[in-house]
Amino acid sequence: MREFERVEEVKEENPLDSMLYHFDQAAQLLRLEPDLYTFMRHPSLEVTIYIPVIMDDGHLEVFVGYRVQHNFARGPAKGGIRFAPDVTLDEIRALAAWMTWKCAVVNIPFGGAKGGVVCNPAELSRGELERLTRRYTAQLLDILGPERDVPAPDLNTDEQVMAWIMDTYSMHARHVVTASVTGKPIGLGGSAGRREATGRGLLIVANEAFRHLGLSPKEARVVIQGAGNVGGVAARLFHEAGYKVIAISDVHGGIFNPQGLNIPEVLEYHRVEKSFRGYPHAEPIPNAELLELECEILIPAAVENQITSRNAERLRCRILCEGANGPTTAQADRILQERGVFVLPDILANAGGVTVSYFEWVQNRMGYYWSERVVNHRLKEVMTNSFRDVLAYATRYGVSMRTAAYMLAIDRVAYDVRMRGIYA
Ligand code: NAD
Repeated sequence: MREFERVEEVKEENPLDSMLYHFDQAAQLLRLEPDLYTFMRHPSLEVTIYIPVIMDDGHLEVFVGYRVQHNFARGPAKGGIRFAPDVTLDEIRALAAWMTWKCAVVNIPFGGAKGGVVCNPAELSRGELERLTRRYTAQLLDILGPERDVPAPDLNTDEQVMAWIMDTYSMHARHVVTASVTGKPIGLGGSAGRREATGRGLLIVANEAFRHLGLSPKEARVVIQGAGNVGGVAARLFHEAGYKVIAISDVHGGIFNPQGLNIPEVLEYHRVEKSFRGYPHAEPIPNAELLELECEILIPAAVENQITSRNAERLRCRILCEGANGPTTAQADRILQERGVFVLPDILANAGGVTVSYFEWVQNRMGYYWSERVVNHRLKEVMTNSFRDVLAYATRYGVSMRTAAYMLAIDRVAYDVRMRGIYA
């Protein structure tokens, strides 16, 4: 078994190294059998595809896309697709593995996968984006499907992109296959509550953490980096729950008001202006400074590697609630642990999204749809149980919530791999 004795050996800028560091640490604490360790450390399949797209002016461009399927022990692979200019294969590998661990933490019957296309969606027209999405889907048809691998939204992909994926898959299958993708518009087989699910899951585990730490959420200060599907929804739900959201940002920068932001007004401003710039009732604040604001909860909900060895010492939050995947590097995680920050790790905290994606897949296969009240009730049950399961591991092994979440996930996946056996 490979040992990372020192966290300093991890290449900080590479999320795959951070993921493997935590995996190795948890596997060692569990004394995982060497064969299982070797098997679970590797993905099952990864593909790079070259996606030709006719651009609006008639010329052809080729985009690079990836899909990584990490592990199928517990069920079909599940994981989002991101469109971003800086997507790398190592990033997608890390994200695919995180999906395996995340689905196991919340105990839903899926393995992990992730996809990405290197592109800047802000520079693509709607037609170009549609052709790119359809061709990406068509090239991956053999490895996608309700029993194989089910994509979902992630950075810069939304309900519209999911609808194109569902349509493309269905056209090739010659019948409607709603369960081929989740995060669809409600009218096309999407689930009530899916859009809010990741933010709602963050709120549920944050409430549990407050209770566990004996703190009161009333007027607790919340700082959020990112204002997309995760950050924007989290802002609204935390605000409605009585927390005081004092800062929020997007890729261009943020706004800060120590008295608390009027979140409905702020989100409406952002919807219209596509930026927080010029919002009148708050001060502008750069993303780097926003992360260092004094608060009870910091929610990074944008991209990876935001909390590193360079700024972890300066964070002034009591609870770090990870909306994004991999926002904290392994080095930074060690520093936060030493400083007593209570970390709700990504593979627990942001699992509300994949949980309601699972509900969507179940509803598609039944052809029977649940009310939002039922979805939210079941989500709350899953997230609360998962928080308690992770906390029980943390207490039993005397480890951080992150290490505990990895240990719980590895235990569950390892059990299923042992039962199925490795066809080697
Ligand atoms: P999104 O595209 O809807 O929103 C991303 C937000 O982050 C935007 O406001 C964008 O302006 C901002 N942003 C992008 N780059 C930034 C940077 N360098 N610095 C500061 N802000 C930046 O994406 P999303 O779906 O909200 O996903 C955000 C994160 O949450 C990702 O890490 C994603 O993997 C993770 N996540 C998403 C879901 C989901 O259901 N969508 C579920 C679990 C985890």
